[in-house]
Amino acid sequence: MYYAAPIAKLIEELNKLPGVGPKTAQRLAFHLLFRPREEVRKLAEAIVQAREQVKACSVCFNLTDEDPCQICRGAGRDREVICVVEEPRDVVAMERSGGFKGLYHVLQGVISPLDGVGPDDIRIKELLNRLQSSEVKEVIVATDPDVEGEATAAYLAKLIKPLGIRVTRIAQGVPVGGELEYADEVTLGLALQGRREM
Ligand SMILES: [Zn+2]
Repeated sequence: MYYAAPIAKLIEELNKLPGVGPKTAQRLAFHLLFRPREEVRKLAEAIVQAREQVKACSVCFNLTDEDPCQICRGAGRDREVICVVEEPRDVVAMERSGGFKGLYHVLQGVISPLDGVGPDDIRIKELLNRLQSSEVKEVIVATDPDVEGEATAAYLAKLIKPLGIRVTRIAQGVPVGGELEYADEVTLGLALQGRREM
């Protein structure tokens, strides 16, 4: 036993975070132990509050503390266009690009047979339900340009086009095999402008 039990527990929990190995976990733990109590309490409260108050929007599945989310309720949004993305962080990237004023649909993943993720495991059914009872004229598929993202895009196009809705795919301004969330704002804006019919 190198550490007092509460320190060992803290290191163990920090070590579960992505990108935090045992050494970083130890460094963070000791950092926290020497910060003012009030500051550490605020951090702990922010984590618990975010986890408890944030949920998926029942319409678009973006993360929100109000349901429906601000974008779904937004008066200035173009309700004829839906941009389909993999994860909530992709909505943040698109919003930051400033080039999109429509609505979103977050799939909460991609079809990936190797990982055992099929069409029913992500929010495709919900998207189709949404399209059947809305004024949507175009669906822009902005899944990542990797194998799973492309396969998911092709699958969606096959289902949506028969509904008489235009399906487009964002241009490859996003690096091949790259992730949407890491594309810079200008690149993402151009990728959106240069979208092609599917
Ligand atoms: Zn929403």
